[in-house]
Amino acid sequence: MVSDRMKTLIAGSYRKPRGYFLGAGICLILFFQMAWAEEVVVYSARNEPLIKPLFDAYTQKEGVAVQLVTDKEGPLLVRLGAEGARTPADILLTVDAGTLWQAASQGLLSPVDSSLLREKIPAPLRDEENRWFGLSMRARTIVYHTQRVRPSDLSTYEALGDPKWKGRLCLRTSKKVYNQSLVAMMIVALGEKRVEQVVQGWVRNLAAPVFSDDTQVMEAIAAGQCDVGIVNSYYYGRLKAKTPHLPLALFWANQQDRGVHMNITGAGLTRHAKHPKAALRLLEWLASDPAQQIFARLDFEYPANPQIAPTPSVAAWGTFKQDSTPMFQAGALQGLAVRLMDRAGYK
Ligand code: FE
Repeated sequence: MVSDRMKTLIAGSYRKPRGYFLGAGICLILFFQMAWAEEVVVYSARNEPLIKPLFDAYTQKEGVAVQLVTDKEGPLLVRLGAEGARTPADILLTVDAGTLWQAASQGLLSPVDSSLLREKIPAPLRDEENRWFGLSMRARTIVYHTQRVRPSDLSTYEALGDPKWKGRLCLRTSKKVYNQSLVAMMIVALGEKRVEQVVQGWVRNLAAPVFSDDTQVMEAIAAGQCDVGIVNSYYYGRLKAKTPHLPLALFWANQQDRGVHMNITGAGLTRHAKHPKAALRLLEWLASDPAQQIFARLDFEYPANPQIAPTPSVAAWGTFKQDSTPMFQAGALQGLAVRLMDRAGYK
C-alpha cells in the first residue's frame, strides 16, 4: 500500500527532530487517505429519515461510512453540475425518474457495468445505458371519497377531465415533479394534443386551488371539499396508518389499457465519483434482497426487485396492472409536459 518512496520519506523524517513534523504529516495524510477510501458520499433528494436507515445498515454490515447530503432535486443537480470534477459526490439519489434522466442527459452520471443490478432491477425501472437504477417504486393513482364516489364511477386519469367531475377534483400543483412525470408518461401514451385537452378538463373540474402536497389533497377529499384526486400511494399509506377511519380509498387507474403510472426512488454513480468501486458496491447492495426488504418497510413503497414482496399493509391495497413504459421516457418528455400544463392553466 505504502510506496517505497513514501517509506524512505517517513524513515528519513525520523533522523532529525524537525523531521518528526514531516513524518507525522505524512502519516496523517496516509491515515486520511485510508479513511477516505472507506467512505461513499451520497447526494440525496429523499427525505433523510426515509433513506438513512438503509445507509446505517450498510455501514454496520460493511464498515463503509456513508456521508449523506440532503437537498431538493433541483439544487442537487445544479450543485453537481457546478462542482464538476471537484464534486465529492459518488452517488446521486432522487425520488423521480425524470430527475435521474436529466442528470444523465447533462452528463452528470456514469454508466456502470453490473450484472447484479441488471438482474435485480427490471428493465423499465432503469436507464437504457445503465447510468441509473430504480430502487423502490410508488404508484401515482386515483384516490376517492368512499361515501361520495363508487369505484364503478372511476376509470382513467383522462376521465377525471370529463364534465361529470366538475367541482369535484383536487390536485397537487403542476410544479411538483411527480405530476410532470405523470403528464409526460400520458404524452407517451396519448400524444400531446389529447393530453392537453385532458389537462384543460382537470383544470375546469378543480374544486379548489391546487395544493402544495398530496396529503393536503387527501385531507380536502376526506373533509368533503372534493371527491377525487391523484396521489402517490405511500402518502395514502402514511395517512391511513395515522387516521384509519378517513373515508378514502385508492383506485387503480387505467386497468383496461396501459396501467397505473409508477415512479421510482433511484440512484446512479456520478461521473466524477472519487470512490467509484465503493459506490458501485453500495448501489448493488441497495438492490439486494435484504436492502429491498428495508426499502419496503421504510415508507409503504413497492420494492423495485420483484422477488421481494411489499409489506402486508401495502399488499392489502391489492394487485394491479402497472404502466410498463420505460421510466426514462418520463424525463425525455418532462419539459414538454411542463409547457403543456402551463398552457392549460394548471398552476
Ligand atoms: Fe414524496
